[in-house]
Amino acid sequence: MSVFVLVEHDRGEVEPASLEALTFARTRGDVTAVVVGEGADQAAAGLGGYGASHITIATNELLADYGPDAWADALAQVVGAAGATEVLAAGTDRGNEVIAQLAARLDLPMAANVLELAKPGEVLRLQWGGSLHELAAFEEPMLLYTISPHSIEATGGAGASGTVVEQPIELDESATVTMIKDRVTTAEGITLATAPIVVSGGRGMGSAEAFDMLEELADLVGGKVGCSRVVTNNGWRNHRDQVGQTGTVVAPDVYLACGISGAIQHWVGMMNAKTVIAINTDKDAPMVTKADYAIVADLHDVVPALIEEVKRRRA
Ligand SMILES: Cc1cc2nc3c(=O)[nH]c(=O)nc-3n(C[C@H](O)[C@H](O)[C@H](O)COP(=O)(O)OP(=O)(O)OC[C@H]3O[C@@H](n4cnc5c(N)ncnc54)[C@H](O)[C@@H]3O)c2cc1C
Repeated sequence: MSVFVLVEHDRGEVEPASLEALTFARTRGDVTAVVVGEGADQAAAGLGGYGASHITIATNELLADYGPDAWADALAQVVGAAGATEVLAAGTDRGNEVIAQLAARLDLPMAANVLELAKPGEVLRLQWGGSLHELAAFEEPMLLYTISPHSIEATGGAGASGTVVEQPIELDESATVTMIKDRVTTAEGITLATAPIVVSGGRGMGSAEAFDMLEELADLVGGKVGCSRVVTNNGWRNHRDQVGQTGTVVAPDVYLACGISGAIQHWVGMMNAKTVIAINTDKDAPMVTKADYAIVADLHDVVPALIEEVKRRRA
């Protein structure tokens, strides 16, 4: 099998989900990583450790920051020349966008959010925000797909050669019509998506002000504050803090759910957390019944007590 992986990066910084995609790909065959755009050299370093035998850097003077058309044109030329049997990327916004663009250029179908390739020509993938597993059949000679983020752990130490080659790409000016030109940083440090601990609040918080105690707890334990959609609908928190199907998907070491019922649209956004702790007054709430640990009590009593206990142990 000749397996090509689009390695997503942001000006040289590799997207962690792409390392998951590489880890998956090396179970499929001989892996070529494809890196496109500004910072590709920097992104290419270290990919051998994740299983890339070959690394192709697509080059063209028009290839600057991320642009879906330019990246897809570059990927199409790399995989077309090499006779790839599988082309995959991480199931991120960008990964899905570029593979969909590639599929359009090659007139092939694609499968997004794949969990596993069940048997030849069949993929098992997530649908409906993760609440449905779908088995889909493919009859095409080249399989295009993206891997559901957090469905596999990225593991290094593969010791592949990681031989780097540059491949010049032909690009038309029109491929750069949609391309990032500028950025505004709205937050520094760890993000909700990468935080090792997420302290999340739902309707049970009762007010925007009540989130101050979650901020304090998150600060104490090195985490970030998340929330449910009811909270963003109520205007208590910004939508960027929302966890779930229509928010951010997280997979922290610990997810502390305070006053969140555990509706499926929320659950699919945090179900890959290593440990889930629920604080809820309802012992039958789905979040409580599915959690690893549950405290059936009023969060307005429990959270301040947790803060005091963490401070006491730190003192
Ligand atoms: C298409 C679609 C997409 C959606 N996407 C998302 C999404 O991305 N993310 C998301 O979160 N939701 C999403 N939803 C909404 C989702 O269905 C739920 O409505 C929502 O998650 C419920 O939020 P909640 O748990 O905060 O509120 P509720 O379901 O009302 O639960 C509140 C919980 O707080 C508990 N509680 C109340 N008071 C206290 C207290 N004092 N102490 C402790 N516990 C208390 C209650 O027992 C209850 O379990 C989506 C819905 C649709 C239809």
